[in-house]
Amino acid sequence: MHELSLAQTVVEIAEEAAKREGAERIEAIALRVGALAGVVPEALEFAFEVAKRGTLADNARLEVRYLPLVCYCARCGLEFEVEDDHAVALCPFCDELSDDIRQGQELDVAYVEVV
Ligand SMILES: [Zn+2]
Repeated sequence: MHELSLAQTVVEIAEEAAKREGAERIEAIALRVGALAGVVPEALEFAFEVAKRGTLADNARLEVRYLPLVCYCARCGLEFEVEDDHAVALCPFCDELSDDIRQGQELDVAYVEVV
């Protein structure tokens, strides 16, 4: 399960950050997850509840910002949002197919809030 190993990695990153700060516990962990990251929100929430047990993040909130897929059309010189992750990235202005992805592949920890 992809989300469980992701959640474990996120908790590890947060714990390292907390230890560096000399913090006692982690209040919140914020993630940025792009549409192409292949993360199922409900599965991630559940995995986080499991992964945080017995760690400094035991009572931490998970704040996830899901970022839509954004592509760039070279013909129009415009960026456009692709609403359906599974759709091909067709420019809504000129119907040109774009493979120039500007957003949507993110999968990282935005910040960790510690006490
Ligand atoms: Zn275009």
